[in-house]
Amino acid sequence: MDTHYDLDSVIRKVPDFPKPGVLFYDITGILAVPDAFRYCIDRLEEMCKDRSIDAIAGIEARGFIFAAPLAERLGVPLALVRKLGKLPGKAYEKSFELEYGCDTVCVHEVDVVAGTNVLLVDDLIATGGTLKAAASLFEEHGANVVGFLGVIGLPFLDYAQVLEGYPVDVLLEYN
Ligand code: IMP
Repeated sequence: MDTHYDLDSVIRKVPDFPKPGVLFYDITGILAVPDAFRYCIDRLEEMCKDRSIDAIAGIEARGFIFAAPLAERLGVPLALVRKLGKLPGKAYEKSFELEYGCDTVCVHEVDVVAGTNVLLVDDLIATGGTLKAAASLFEEHGANVVGFLGVIGLPFLDYAQVLEGYPVDVLLEYN
């Protein structure tokens, strides 16, 4: 059984990144401490207990870091949700709006299996826009999105509203 780890103590807070006025929560501090990283994966695994999950989808790029060991622990396939132009095979695409401009997420078509239950994983959930777009990549092709997991959640950016109707779990929140 995992013992408690104070994740806040290893998450680096970087003011004015990537632009003035934004406080960036940097998970690289977790990766630098093996006990902290293991604790994260233990907790994420625990959150998947007693749930019917057929596959994990990780969001580029920091989401991959947590999604990959989780998929391995659960013994289920891992799908990579990537930015436009990064996947070599035939891929589904979904564009979504950002504060300024828009972005596109993609997933290999072969990684979307109709009728399967997929859990989406990212390092941090802010507005929820990225995860919502990623979810539609699966849902529009017959897979079921059974929820979202994040290491960090920023509830003041209202992700709960954008992701309404889905279970959303995070390891810690900042307000
Ligand atoms: P959302 O689409 O607004 O929920 O933004 C979430 C995405 O932006 C995730 O893929 C995060 O990796 C990234 N992101 C936004 N803010 C931060 C931050 O403070 N630290 C790390 N990643 C962030």
